[in-house]
Amino acid sequence: MSSRRRFLHSSAAGLAGLAAAPLAAVALPAAPFTGKPIVISTWDAGLNANRGAWKILGSGGYALDAVEAGVMVTENEQNCCVGLGARPDRDGHVTLDACIMDHQFNCGSVAALERIKHPISVARRVMERTPHVMLVGEGAQQFALAQGFALEPNKLSADAEKEYREWLKTSQYRPVLNVENSGRRAVGPAGGAPNHDTIAMLAMDAQGRLSGSCTTSGMAFKMRGRVGDSPIIGAGLFVDPAVGAAAATGQGEDVIRMAGAHTVVELMRQGRSPQAACREAVERIAAIKGAKAKDIQVAFIALNAKGEAGSYALQKGFNYALSTTDTPRLLDAEFFLK
Ligand code: ASP
Repeated sequence: MSSRRRFLHSSAAGLAGLAAAPLAAVALPAAPFTGKPIVISTWDAGLNANRGAWKILGSGGYALDAVEAGVMVTENEQNCCVGLGARPDRDGHVTLDACIMDHQFNCGSVAALERIKHPISVARRVMERTPHVMLVGEGAQQFALAQGFALEPNKLSADAEKEYREWLKTSQYRPVLNVENSGRRAVGPAGGAPNHDTIAMLAMDAQGRLSGSCTTSGMAFKMRGRVGDSPIIGAGLFVDPAVGAAAATGQGEDVIRMAGAHTVVELMRQGRSPQAACREAVERIAAIKGAKAKDIQVAFIALNAKGEAGSYALQKGFNYALSTTDTPRLLDAEFFLK
């Protein structure tokens, strides 16, 4: 066997071993938190999502189960930007991105997944049942089907169909900030093209275990094959059990280029509060974008290992849902561009 083939062979064997070995074997610092559970998620869609998560957290359940179940609520809703009812890419296909991460650096992700109702659950299966972190496109769909997920009809929701037909008249992408606050979740503000939003969720359970999830259809009418930050560990989501967790929403390209969620967690590691860490990450994006910062929205949410939450946005209009009981609160984030 050539040395390259031997290398590939042994790497594959190593990976297969990894898949079989319990990932939980990683040595971890003792959880510093023994208090009450908490869950935070993006946008007003987070209210329902948090209620879904609280059913698990409130009865002593596992944070990872909570962040999966929580965002599944949004994937099930008729939403402009999450799940199969969302807007398609510019070729008319709804392509979904999602990722999930637990308190032991285990993570899973899918990108450009089509016709599967719950990409977050497929991401969790990637994490738990493969030696990999990320599957994309056809391969991700093939894996989902092999795992027993149903292939849903290749059909746009009525709202998405209407929006898409409208968009085809000009085929121009015109970002509109914070479309999700228009009160017309499936249809953009009058005269404006729909833009994007994402459900990202961070939770800590009663045992102090942190987890995060993120799921989206990405930008409306994006180029076919475009993937944003949301399924990328370190960009759309990052969890470090010793420090905290962070997640992003908004213009994914600008989150990816500065490794957004990971940056927020590293800033918390250096001693920043969750809000100060989110703020500094947003300021970096503003500095990178310069005058163009006014054309985009980016926001972060964060939760530290003590169970403190925070958020910060580039522009006015970002809100997030916070739960420490079964009644979630919707909070307006502080923002940078006054
Ligand atoms: N971050 C997502 C993306 O760029 C979209 C959003 O959060 O609004 O795909």
